[in-house]
Amino acid sequence: MASTYSMPTETRIVPSATELLINNRWIASESGETFATINPSTGEEICRVAAAHELDVDKAVQAARNAFERGPWRKMHASERGKLLYRLADLIEGHADELAQLEALDNGKPVSVAKRVDVAKTVACYRYFAGWADKVQGKTIPIDGDFFCYTRHEPIGVVGQIIPWNYPMLMQAWKLAPALATGNTVVMKPAEQTPLSALRIGELVVDAGFPEGVVNLVPGFGPIAGAAIARHMDIDKVAFTGSTEIGRLILEAAARSNLKRVTLELGGKSPNIIFEDTDLDEAVEGAHLGLFSNQGQICCAGSRVFVEEKIYDQFVEKSVTRASKRIVGDPFDPQTEQGPQIDQAQVDRVMGYIESGQNEGATLACGGKRVGNLGYFVEPTVFADVHDNMKIAREEIFGPVMSVIPFKDLAEVVTRANKTNYGLAAGVWTRDIRKAHAIANNVRAGTVWVNCYNILDTRAPFGGFKQSGTGRELGEYGLQQYTEIKTVIVKL
Ligand code: ADP
Repeated sequence: MASTYSMPTETRIVPSATELLINNRWIASESGETFATINPSTGEEICRVAAAHELDVDKAVQAARNAFERGPWRKMHASERGKLLYRLADLIEGHADELAQLEALDNGKPVSVAKRVDVAKTVACYRYFAGWADKVQGKTIPIDGDFFCYTRHEPIGVVGQIIPWNYPMLMQAWKLAPALATGNTVVMKPAEQTPLSALRIGELVVDAGFPEGVVNLVPGFGPIAGAAIARHMDIDKVAFTGSTEIGRLILEAAARSNLKRVTLELGGKSPNIIFEDTDLDEAVEGAHLGLFSNQGQICCAGSRVFVEEKIYDQFVEKSVTRASKRIVGDPFDPQTEQGPQIDQAQVDRVMGYIESGQNEGATLACGGKRVGNLGYFVEPTVFADVHDNMKIAREEIFGPVMSVIPFKDLAEVVTRANKTNYGLAAGVWTRDIRKAHAIANNVRAGTVWVNCYNILDTRAPFGGFKQSGTGRELGEYGLQQYTEIKTVIVKL
């Protein structure tokens, strides 16, 4: 049974912000160069956007430096910074429909999901960190001698932020909100595939009343604008979300330049472990959403579905039925569950993995083809009889391709789950509390979900073990990545 497919509809959203935002002004790039942002549902150009080069990044850094050293931002009360963030959250909420549509247009995700997940979580993130702005506190420390010793949590300074295309607005929030709550200034590069929502939010940042130079946006290409940020001598920290391959370059550039602080949120190949004692239907649905949500373009996607032997065949059958029913099509159709992949390069990459799965002897249980001849749609695909050493079980696919892998027992599955350079997330489905905790304690991953998957909340830290990254975002832990600790010792 093929998934339903409807032709993409025409949309009438006209993006209002398409230039660089520096010092609260919208300007063309120095070179005048622009790039096309593409509607992934049709492959057509939506509009052109200014492309930042090194000179533009320099300008943005200068604006951010000025704002940090001399502007009103530095002297602003922490509670005032919180108020600005609350105001921004309110403005985003007030433009929820428009922003969801813009995200669906530029990224291809279903508009209903964009509103329910992306916009709602973006608003929640700004509100959460708004609340923290005046609650970041140091300690007093009883050191030996006649001294008064205390710590101050100071902003790091000018922060460079490089974000990906899979959750354009939400990744912007994860980075901007804690940086601003703690008093830093920002130079941010949105992904070249999806600059539009980040730029629209730039307009709302200005409307909210943030002083000039506090938030600067430099859309452009990774190896040009992104690399200029990573190696910049006057950027104090870089926060990056994207592939492990580029994360390595960022860390290298930081080390070679000025030893700027680095936080990285990178790729994954997360195990989702299903024991035979679980509620099967719930686990099938959980594994389905854990992999296929956001077109499979999630860094923590449960892409290695380990299923206990006794229920393996049944699980595969039910997963195939569910995947075959997944509604693929126009992101603007309210019924749609899965939109297009982000671009041709991703489609080629995903199709390459599907081919490799077949060549290496996995059973293609459903899907495996492109959908339609317009845009970048791929069928929800399930592979059975997958072995750990196959490419599809080892490498991040970042697309709608599920690998179902059999296992025998707890000890064995823990070892196999950990046999990866990644360590972003894991899931376990069982009614046995001991098995759940054994997985939670022994799988080397930044997040473990028990009887659920992909539950992300702005209050809970998120990040990777091993080559899935360094540092944590969100929650109180995420705040720590945006402050320097200063020790003050006063002779009494
Ligand atoms: P993906 O494979 O998901 O596109 P990337 O790691 O390539 O992930 O991209 C994530 C972000 O990193 C994007 O904003 C991209 O423009 C940027 N980027 C890509 N290459 C570089 C680079 N060499 N230096 C800095 N940033 C880069």
